[in-house]
Amino acid sequence: MPKKLVMDAAEIDRSLTRIAYEILEKNKGVKDLVLVGIRTGGVFLSERLKKKILEIEGVDVPSGILDITLYRDDVLSAHKKPKIKKTEIPFCLDKKKAILVDDVLFTGRTIRAAMDALIDFGRPQSIQLAVLIDRGHRELPIRADFVGANLPSFLWEDISVNLIETDGCDEVVVEDS
Ligand code: 5GP
Ligand code: MG
Repeated sequence: MPKKLVMDAAEIDRSLTRIAYEILEKNKGVKDLVLVGIRTGGVFLSERLKKKILEIEGVDVPSGILDITLYRDDVLSAHKKPKIKKTEIPFCLDKKKAILVDDVLFTGRTIRAAMDALIDFGRPQSIQLAVLIDRGHRELPIRADFVGANLPSFLWEDISVNLIETDGCDEVVVEDS
């Protein structure tokens, strides 16, 4: 199975540094910012952004977790539906600027479910989206505000986002599935 390395550890780190600065620039600092990572990859990326923002601004922004699983609702369907499994949002979202963080943006269905879940926790001032990889193929009118890398992909390709926390190394690899 052919594999292609598209981001190495240094490139991932530089992208996250840039995204941290972009978040601070767009939001004019950390006031009212909260980070919400989508399990699993998005949570580790959200924690890294939180650390970078702490290094840059000296402020530890609150962070939460959404656990959303994509599942096939019947075996013949190619479509996957997102299901909210667990939410850990230990703060009120009223008037907050929530930054959703995920590893890969594909059809947009996970983010739609994430936005629905967030709105159940209050009335955020805004919801913004940060992703490490945008692989295209959107099925909903959703775009990311902060993107590590745009990676136009074939539908059959699988983009592996390997992170130290789960895979022992940081890299993004594209493989035919
Ligand atoms: P969407 O809901 O936009 O179709 O898919 C996004 C979600 O599925 C993200 O949480 C992401 O982790 C996962 N995902 C979709 N496609 C890929 C892919 O090619 N590689 C990886 N690693 N995750 C993907
Ligand atoms: Mg995911």
